[in-house]
Amino acid sequence: MEQVTVDDLKKAVTEHDIRIWPLRQCSMCLTSLTYAFDGDRITYDANCSCVTYTRPPEKRSWDSVAEIFNMQTPDARERMWDEFVAAGQPAK
Ligand SMILES: [Zn+2]
Repeated sequence: MEQVTVDDLKKAVTEHDIRIWPLRQCSMCLTSLTYAFDGDRITYDANCSCVTYTRPPEKRSWDSVAEIFNMQTPDARERMWDEFVAAGQPAK
């Protein structure tokens, strides 16, 4: 799979209505650590049961999300992209 661009991401989020993307699970408690998309606002929520305090979700940029994909190998990137698109709402 080719490198992912910010435009690819924005298009996928709009077309597939992606709001929550579970990126990975905490290795300790298996809580999903998620990215949330709300219009042009992206936040990363790394709170899980292992922490005793709640951190506000961190603001992230489109570039940083593209970077997550682009640091993968092409095969892994394709799998990650499929999961990303699947995280969206089913087309109506
Ligand atoms: Zn945890």
